[in-house]
Amino acid sequence: MFRRFERVPKTPLKQKIKDIGTTINDIRKGNTLSIEEFEKRISICKECRFYHKYTTTCNICGCMMKVKAVSPSMKCPIDKWLPSNLGIQGSNED
Ligand code: SF4
Repeated sequence: MFRRFERVPKTPLKQKIKDIGTTINDIRKGNTLSIEEFEKRISICKECRFYHKYTTTCNICGCMMKVKAVSPSMKCPIDKWLPSNLGIQGSNED
């Protein structure tokens, strides 16, 4: 018989594009999380059933978690981890 596949709520394309832009902006500005905060996010993802361990992508948003998780502005699509105010500003311009 046919194998049943779990329905996964997908992030809309418009939101995906917005998230990619925000992540790139954060990385470009040097506004990234500390290694410890990044590792916390990744460890949550690694325990998640929506994490694809070979591609390191999330099956909901389709993002590469090793890139998305460095951005303090980003959040998990199902709120397992949230935006952080612990970003490190690489540049000292104020
Ligand atoms: S971002 Fe959220 S839903 Fe996606 S793999 Fe990580 S914890 Fe799971």
